[in-house]
Amino acid sequence: MKTLKLNLQPVIGLEIHIELKTKTKMFCSCKNDPEETHPNINICPICLGHPGTLPVVNQEAVKKTIKTGLALNCEIEKNSFFERKNYFYPDLPKGYQISQYQKPLCKNGFLEVRGRKIRIKRVHLEEDTGRLIHEKDCSLVDFNRAGVPLMELVTEPDLTSAKEARDFAEELQLILRYLDVSEADMEKGELRVEANVSLAKKRGELGTKVEIKNLNSFRALEKAIEYEIARQTEILKKGKKILQETRGWDDLREVTFPQREKEKAHDYRYFPEPDLPPLYIDEETILKIRSEIGELPHQRRERLKREYQLDEKTTEILVKNKELGEYFEKIVSEFEPNLKKEKLLRLIKLSSNYLISDLVGLLKGLPFEEKEILITPENFAQFISLIEEGKISSKIGKMVLAEMFKTGADPLQIIKEKGLVQLTDKKEIEKLAQEIILENQKAVEDFQKGKIPALQFLIGQLMRKTGGRANPQLAKEILLKFLKKDKI
Ligand code: ADP
Ligand code: MG
Ligand code: ZN
Repeated sequence: MKTLKLNLQPVIGLEIHIELKTKTKMFCSCKNDPEETHPNINICPICLGHPGTLPVVNQEAVKKTIKTGLALNCEIEKNSFFERKNYFYPDLPKGYQISQYQKPLCKNGFLEVRGRKIRIKRVHLEEDTGRLIHEKDCSLVDFNRAGVPLMELVTEPDLTSAKEARDFAEELQLILRYLDVSEADMEKGELRVEANVSLAKKRGELGTKVEIKNLNSFRALEKAIEYEIARQTEILKKGKKILQETRGWDDLREVTFPQREKEKAHDYRYFPEPDLPPLYIDEETILKIRSEIGELPHQRRERLKREYQLDEKTTEILVKNKELGEYFEKIVSEFEPNLKKEKLLRLIKLSSNYLISDLVGLLKGLPFEEKEILITPENFAQFISLIEEGKISSKIGKMVLAEMFKTGADPLQIIKEKGLVQLTDKKEIEKLAQEIILENQKAVEDFQKGKIPALQFLIGQLMRKTGGRANPQLAKEILLKFLKKDKI
């Protein structure tokens, strides 16, 4: 078959649902806890949609949505309101979802990903649905999640690759966590991403889009878009047309598969929710919420790079692991600020290295949480100073750190308990002995001329270099061996 030469441009837009972290549900006082495993325990007549009940807006959810919008450079809609989106599904007891249509709380924002501004069309507030559990010969409904506050964010089709879409979603997750509006864990369904993918014949144009659902990880998001770009490319190169449809992602086979063809535009018969007053957001409220936005990931990225002169990879780890980054900064603040610049930078570099490789290693895959860590920033800083000053070798350092991690003891105290840290590694002492000999040629000559006390001086130097932890007998033997060899 003939294949066409086409210069196809991927066009990608994301639709993202985010479960907000609030105490209660969106329109009732039921506990917001979608992780609850006991079915239908956090429910009431309101979130079950019983007739005669009235919803009440959760102010915390409204604030968190505005906060998110502000962090994403959006305009805030001062005269917003809720609408009913009517459709039938067993997980939607009211027969409609309270959502926003004409006036989303936030619109026209952007998020910068690796230097490219990705426009955000809207961020609105709605409620989550229940969960269906499919058994062998029936389906069950769990309404614990029904009515949980849900934000929906829609991007413009500005993304141009699978990797960029993933970077966007990861950066968004980080922002949501920095803002403390959601844990945004994809595996738990707190962050649900749907990808719209099309191929344009020219930059700036749009192709026929395919929407991909059930993406449960960032990896799935990236893989699914990659797959879809390849699939559509093949079809278009054969001169065929793309069918506008919704496809699912099969995580095992790593393919997308057809789920449903796009029926004509859905008619949800949106209309303003008559049971809720409109939302009026005044300037003061917006200002107050804006003032509560702390440092955002991109700001922290810039600051860490500037203040600590760390490399990009290290900076990224400390930005992505917010608490680890904060702990790092507490450690650095323990160092004397009027140290020589080079020394301070060495201490900073060592601190980040020991945190990222050694401490994270000791956590064995558990996330870093400062409240779970026995090592105080002060002790960590002291430990780093000991390393930097050469008072403990990196090898001993690892043992000391492991002990600090286990007991929270301070490093000097651990070092004093000599038995634990005595240096008996022959190779290491040999290496040190050679250095000592090179650095102390005068004493070496003295010894070789017959001045026996010079040996004691050299042993002393080696002991000092090891912070007194070298096995003295071994140190003496090794030095003596080298000194005799030197003579021959
Ligand atoms: P719909 O009304 O079909 O839901 P929207 O205009 O609301 O379409 O867009 C939904 C999502 O699809 C948005 O993220 C948007 O950026 C994206 N999108 C729209 N058209 C295309 C296209 N041709 N190719 C890729 N993505 C698209
Ligand atoms: Mg849409
Ligand atoms: Zn309820």
